[in-house]
This record gives sequence, C-alpha cells and structure tokens, in this order.
Amino acid sequence: MTARVLIVDDIPTNVRLLEARLTAEYFEVVTATSGQQALDICANSDIDIVLLDVMMPEMDGFEVCLRLKGSPKTHHVPVLMVTALDQPSDRVRGLEVGADDFLTKPVDDVQLMARVKSLVRLKSLTDELRARAMTGQQIAVEDAIRAMDKISTAGGSILIIDTDQRHAERLKNYLTPEHQVDILTQPAEAVFQVTGAQYELAIVSMALADYDPLRVCSQIRTLEHARTLPIILVADEADRPRVVRALDLGVNDFISRPVERNELAARVRTQIRRHRYALELRQSVNNTMAMAVTDDMTGLYNRRYFDRHLGVMLSKAQSQDRDMALMILDIDHFKSVNDNYGHDIGDAVLREFAARLKRNIRGVDLACRFGGEEFVVLMPDTDYRQAETIAERVRQSISERSFEIGADRHLSVTVSAGVTLNEARSETPESLIKRADVALYRAKREGRNRVVFDAA
Ligand code: GH3
Ligand code: MG
Ligand code: MG
Repeated sequence: MTARVLIVDDIPTNVRLLEARLTAEYFEVVTATSGQQALDICANSDIDIVLLDVMMPEMDGFEVCLRLKGSPKTHHVPVLMVTALDQPSDRVRGLEVGADDFLTKPVDDVQLMARVKSLVRLKSLTDELRARAMTGQQIAVEDAIRAMDKISTAGGSILIIDTDQRHAERLKNYLTPEHQVDILTQPAEAVFQVTGAQYELAIVSMALADYDPLRVCSQIRTLEHARTLPIILVADEADRPRVVRALDLGVNDFISRPVERNELAARVRTQIRRHRYALELRQSVNNTMAMAVTDDMTGLYNRRYFDRHLGVMLSKAQSQDRDMALMILDIDHFKSVNDNYGHDIGDAVLREFAARLKRNIRGVDLACRFGGEEFVVLMPDTDYRQAETIAERVRQSISERSFEIGADRHLSVTVSAGVTLNEARSETPESLIKRADVALYRAKREGRNRVVFDAA
C-alpha cells in the first residue's frame, strides 16, 4: 500500500521526523509548514491523507481542517490530527471540525502506521466510488453520488468480544445510542454469533481469559460473509508486539487502554464508513454490470450480450454435438401501434410483450431484445419438436389475449417468428441468424401471426 501523505507542522524538526518514518514505509511524502501552504497543496494536487499539527501560528490545525472539510474538492481527504497529550479537549474540537482520527505527540510508530494505513484504505475506496461516479455512466453517476452522500456512519451494528463484562459494558456505553452494540463474553461462540447477524464491526479485547484474541479474529475472518468485517483490537501497552502481528494479519486498527471515548468514536466511525463504502462499491459494480448487459426498457438481455453469448453457446453445442435452436420474433404491424396510439403506448406494448415472452420460454432459454420490436431467443439442447412447441406457445401467448393499454382499452397484438436449428459444423452465429431471419421473412409474407422453420 502506498499513498501520498501531506505532513503539516510549523516546526521543521517535527516534519522531518514524521517524514523519515513514513518514507521508510514507502509512503510518498509532501510537506508544509503553514496552514495556508497546506490548503494550497491540497487544492492543487492529489493528497491521500493529511497529518495535521494542531498548534500552528496564524492558522491553526482546526481552521485548516474546517476549510479542507468545507470544500467539495477536498472534503473526502482524510485528516489525521496530531494533538498534544495534555490537551484532551483538542480531540473534541478535532471531531467537531471533521477530523477523521487523532495521534498524540510524541507520535508512536505503531500507532502512526496503523492510523495512516487505515485511513489510506478508506481513501482508496472513496476514490474508487468517486471515480465510478465520474466515468459518466448516465444513471450510475447520480446513483453513486446519491449513495455516497447517503452513507452515514451512524447506526452501526457492532459486536464487542470481551471476557470482562464490566469493561465491555463501559465500551458499549460509549457507543450507544449512536450504534447498536452486542456484547459477547464467550469468545468460543464468536463464529456462531457473527454467523447469525450482520455486524459491521467487531471490537475484540486483547485480554481474553483463556483465549488467543488473534485466533478469534482469524476465525471470524474465515466466515464467507465476514471476510471483510472490520476488526478493532483493544490493547494494553504490553500487547504491542502482538498488535503489530495482528495488523499484519489484516486486523484493521487498534485502540489503547484506557479507552478514551472520543478516540473510540473516531476509530469506529472510520471503520464503519470504510465498510459501508466497500459494500456500496460492490453494489455499484454489480449494478453497472447488470446495466451493461440488459435492455433498459424490457429488462431482457441486450444485443451486445446476446452476440457474445451466442458465440459461446454455439461452440459448446458444436464441440459436444448438441442441439440448439434459435428463434427471431418480430411484432406484426407495430408501426401502426405507434401511429395510432403514440410512442408511449408502443413502449408499454413492448414491455408487456417481453413479459409474456419470458413467461413462455424455459429457464434455460435466453431471451434478448434484438432491437426495436425484434426479439431473439436462444434455446440450448432443443430439437425441432421442442422448438416448435415453444415457438407456438409464445405466439399464442401474444395473440390469445389482447394487450391492456389504459382503462378499458385493449389492443390485439400478434407476432411472427422464424426458427432455425444448428446443423453443420461449419455453422456460425451469422449463418444461424441469417436463416432464422429468412424464415421470419417468410412468416411475414405468408400472412403474419405464425411460426415458420427455415427450409434447410
Ligand atoms: P411488420 O409486421 O412488417 O413487422 O411491420 P412493422 O410495422 O412491425 O415493422 P416496421 O419495421 O415497419 O416498424 C417497426 C416500428 O417499430 C417502427 C419503429 O418506430 C417502432 N419502434 C422501434 N423501436 C421502438 C421503441 O423502442 N418504442 C416504440 N414505441 N416503437 C419502436
Ligand atoms: Mg421490424
Ligand atoms: Mg414488426
């Protein structure tokens, strides 16, 4: 994981110290020694995370953070506030101005890396979502942006695993009522507990009587639906070496005892947000994929998908010597529907036609809108007789019952179909479609509302 980190501190020694540590971990480092300079850099280049000192002359860290979070260009850049240990009120202020997390001076190495990495992971998800939103895929754009705005960090579903009931209760109090929190004092049941619920975060104590907390974490992660569940460890100073190991194993973050309320709130917020972004991203990928292969109006597959699928299915049928049938359907005199009732009614007829078509083919058959008022159905493992049965059934389903086009208004619709079967080894998608098309043309010429097989 690499990222561009901006270090902001008015004291050059502090800057150099942090710079050396981050560079050693292969982060790219940019530095600023004043608030204004930091704002300029953020506005003009891609920064993945800002390490921001609170105490600076002229413009302090709070003001810088407020401005970063207030600008649409930079509000998604995570800000890690560096506060003085003797100023706990700084954390509250930091939260108020929108800081994502805190570090206290003197900055501890393990903490520095854990926080930076956790926020960089969040940032890369945010970037991905933003990029998706900007690729310009019509509806997807608005959907993705709306979804991102909607994602809050409140109402998280959290599981605390701790054998010390009292300690768990204290954490729970810190987190409610903003979040929904369950407590599990029997780590052996962790897998069971996680299986039965949709948690968005697990907080695991390192001080589990008789249990290895890292094993508990890895067991949770072996569950299919919990592979991406964020985990925060609650650790004592003495746990340090094992915390480092846990972070290597993919535990997302840790928090030191005694747990401070604001710090916990900030860490929990970051993890829940990341988790929700990740879900949203997966969802939007699925949607985009579905959109790429379906016809908007009818919900059937689109031509692009069909062309690709036909190629695949045909070579499979050929190499395994299996039957396959192809049917092209064209609605009869559809132009007059538009002419007499308008384009919207025409569209409604197309949708109803598609619905009936889908109901009357089999699950294995693939229906697609070929274009305009033309449809095509690919029928695997289908011989002449079966193809004839299906084609007739579809034809009848259209003609036997009129289409409703508004209150008490009905319209009779018919369809013509041309059907063909794959014959020779030399068959190509084009030759199949061509023959079905010729058959369809004959069906039209012979009076419409009929099924014709190609003469081959
Ligand atoms: P035939 O029986 O010979 O197929 O006659 P037809 O009128 O159905 O055939 P033609 O190809 O002349 O007309 C097809 C019409 O379908 C013309 C076009 O405006 C209309 N059409 C194509 N796509 C759409 C659509 O998405 N919505 C609507 N409402 N009409 C469409
Ligand atoms: Mg046509
Ligand atoms: Mg037509």
